[in-house]
Amino acid sequence: TSVLLVGGTGRGHALCDLFVRTDPDVTVYYGPGCDVIEHERIVPVPEVRLDDPATALEFLSRHQVEFVLVANIDALSIGYVDVLAARGHRVIGPTKAAAALESSKERSKVFLERHGLPTAAYEAFGDPDKAKAYIRGRTHPVVVKTDGLTPYGDGAVVCDTAADAEEAVDAFARAQGEDFHVVVEERLFGREISVFALLDGVNHLMFPCAEDYKRALDGDLGKNCDGMGSVAPHPLAGGDLRDRIRRELLEPLTRGVRDEELGFTGFVYIGAMITGDGLKVIEINARFGDSEAQAVLPSVRSNFSDLCRAVLKQDLDRCRLVTDDLVRCSVAVTQGPVDPSDPAAGPGWPFGEFETGLPISGLGTEAPERAQVFYAGMRKGPGGGPVTSGGRVLHVVGSGTTLEQARAHAYEQVARISFPGARSRSDIGARRASTGAP
Ligand code: ATP
Repeated sequence: TSVLLVGGTGRGHALCDLFVRTDPDVTVYYGPGCDVIEHERIVPVPEVRLDDPATALEFLSRHQVEFVLVANIDALSIGYVDVLAARGHRVIGPTKAAAALESSKERSKVFLERHGLPTAAYEAFGDPDKAKAYIRGRTHPVVVKTDGLTPYGDGAVVCDTAADAEEAVDAFARAQGEDFHVVVEERLFGREISVFALLDGVNHLMFPCAEDYKRALDGDLGKNCDGMGSVAPHPLAGGDLRDRIRRELLEPLTRGVRDEELGFTGFVYIGAMITGDGLKVIEINARFGDSEAQAVLPSVRSNFSDLCRAVLKQDLDRCRLVTDDLVRCSVAVTQGPVDPSDPAAGPGWPFGEFETGLPISGLGTEAPERAQVFYAGMRKGPGGGPVTSGGRVLHVVGSGTTLEQARAHAYEQVARISFPGARSRSDIGARRASTGAP
């Protein structure tokens, strides 16, 4: 059988790997994909574009596939799934209406409150002065978030003081002008957890939880930048916490998408915080986390094509997820700058101007069961070797029976990889790993 996976980045590569590893009979067309991946059953389709579902329709008119999986939020938020489904294709992925749970923060908050998922108190504003008056009236610290999608996960400003928050409002107002639309919410304190499940519209199948390292610099300093690495399973997500997550987050979420008939199939990713006052939802995302996918998906042993078929038949309640019991540590290797906390220091991740065409070496792994490399911002260069094409270039995932071993395996491989300006955090997986205390 063959399938079309619409996506790119390291998450797309991890999904391709999941398909071909768990299903010996599947060929994955991966569009636009990454042409550096060398696997006889992973076929890049560069003409399929994330910003234009007509390119996928064109491909599908020439190739028979069993189903399409759309795994990128930019594609989902423009209604990629709706367009393909309207033309009779079997598609997995949230509709445009379902993807709005990620692409609009206000929509997401309304959904969370309506369906009884615990979340921080908030208010939405289209007027900067009203937002600032609200901030001045709070006795607790707040987070200021722009309503829409941002390219590098930098749409939320976590503030210590009211003055910081008012400054964040002004900065959004300057950047957005007439389109100013923010959510101001109570700042939560605790340890974050990324929760994943596959949805078929009415049922969910829970995947392992992960811990993300979002900040650009060691010690969780610097900008929030869409993930510098992650660990799975989450160090605190034992049986009790998983049961609470299922009961308090996944069950009401699944009921909500069913009752609102949102047509939400595919992966949901709930960003949550374990606080002194219980679990709280920070955000809902309409696709797997990038950087977490690379740490979570290699553990899956269930045939992923069969799980996708269950999604399409809406009988995911009959499936069980089989995973191995290894720990994984995923480290992103990005292009500098040397001081990512300084916006003048670019180019490089997470600022948006990247050097393309820099040669990359050291991708080969000595022991694939210890370390794997997932390709993100890279492509085949003129000489045939891999070169950079983006800021977050690749992800190295170490596996082990303990987190310490997984970390060591990841960093051994990171040390082998080189390209000019390569930079990664040195402390992925080191966050209170020994105590596990929040
Ligand atoms: P992402 O790309 O990570 O999805 P985003 O722009 O969609 O980012 P959020 O996910 O809502 O914005 O927030 C980004 C990060 O800011 C969160 O992962 C969390 O670390 C922090 N954050 C957001 N809301 C809160 C909150 N209420 N209290 C404390 N921290 C928060």
